[in-house]
Amino acid sequence: MKELSCLASQVQASSTMAIDALAKQMKADGVDVIGFGAGEPDFNTPEHIKAAAIQAITGNVTRYTPASGTVELKKAVCARMKADCGVDYKPTQVVVSSGAKHCVYIALRALVNPGDEVILPAPFWVSYLELIKMVGAQPVVVTAQESAGFKMSAQQLRDAITPKTKALILNNPSNPTGMVYSREELEAIAQVCLEHDVYIIADEIYYSLLYDGVKFTSVASLGEEVRKHTILINGVSKAYAMTGWRIGYALADEAVAKVMGNYLSHSTGSPCAISQAASVAALNGPQDEVETMRQAFEARRDYIVERMNSIPGVSCIKPEGAFYVMMNIEQLLGKTICGETIHTCDDFSSAFLKHGLVATVPCSGFGAPNFVRWSYATSMENIQKGLDRLEQFLAGKEH
Ligand code: PMP
Ligand code: GLU
Repeated sequence: MKELSCLASQVQASSTMAIDALAKQMKADGVDVIGFGAGEPDFNTPEHIKAAAIQAITGNVTRYTPASGTVELKKAVCARMKADCGVDYKPTQVVVSSGAKHCVYIALRALVNPGDEVILPAPFWVSYLELIKMVGAQPVVVTAQESAGFKMSAQQLRDAITPKTKALILNNPSNPTGMVYSREELEAIAQVCLEHDVYIIADEIYYSLLYDGVKFTSVASLGEEVRKHTILINGVSKAYAMTGWRIGYALADEAVAKVMGNYLSHSTGSPCAISQAASVAALNGPQDEVETMRQAFEARRDYIVERMNSIPGVSCIKPEGAFYVMMNIEQLLGKTICGETIHTCDDFSSAFLKHGLVATVPCSGFGAPNFVRWSYATSMENIQKGLDRLEQFLAGKEH
């Protein structure tokens, strides 16, 4: 038989999805495992959103919609983005797709030619690297150190740009670090992009999950020229606990949005009509549950950060957004715990799952090899138990 596509063969399966599937399978098999793997809110989708979906079904909103989404949802996206992020877009500049992940893919499809370079600050969300490879582009990874708050400086960006650079993927607030760029930091980065005519794929899906009173700045709000160079990515998964509904959106200049829409018309056809109706309710309806969930995440973050830093051998810096903590395991490398020698973060996560019954994500696939990501989108009770188990595990005790 002939070989499979070389491009496709290079793509690795998503480690976050794999760990989540493994933890769910272990639970289904009766193992008392606690999952900190997938970044997925543990809350249920709010009732009024579910009611809108039920109404869509009974009202026969069950057919194809325009390929890039309904006008109603595009209007709702524009209104929400204006209210929350201070950015002005028209419905013709919005593309709705089956999740923000898919929007990043379509944005890359619209922008890059094979061989173009795409700058990716590390630590990065695992899917970005693979998505860049999937479109035949060349990832250029720029490492942001923990000591710099995991943030890439404008100078680091400038140093990474070559004549082949087409785009930068900027995820703010960040998965996996939870770090948030200030307005000044963003201005400096955007300035470099303008100087070199580099597009910014700005994934801001965690913008509503900010802590300590930190204010969010959308990169697209920094002026007309920056907005023109930006493809804003957002979605309902995180803010409204709607991961399974599969709705994300991109906002861009009309010409870019049109190309993205054309691409969608031949690939997904259209996003799920029922989920789109539910998303209109999410974006236009009351926003108080977003705030309730945010407060719960903040309390969990405070607990996990304080407790993790009190446990010898590991540490973490305090994230200002999203729902992830990066645990630094440098001090554990070379040590043997519960009979397993820890050479890498992958070794740590496997040993911790096997002997501590806790699922975490090793950050080797995130461009941060000495770190392990904990998603605290789980109950306080689970977080407490998970940290008890970390303590036990590090003390060499099996769970
Ligand atoms: N961007 C980031 C940074 C994420 O963490 C996620 C979570 N999977 C996504 C995009 C994808 O979200 P969606 O569920 O809308 O595809
Ligand atoms: N964004 C989440 C995570 O990082 C969900 C899983 C995924 O899509 O990668 O865990």
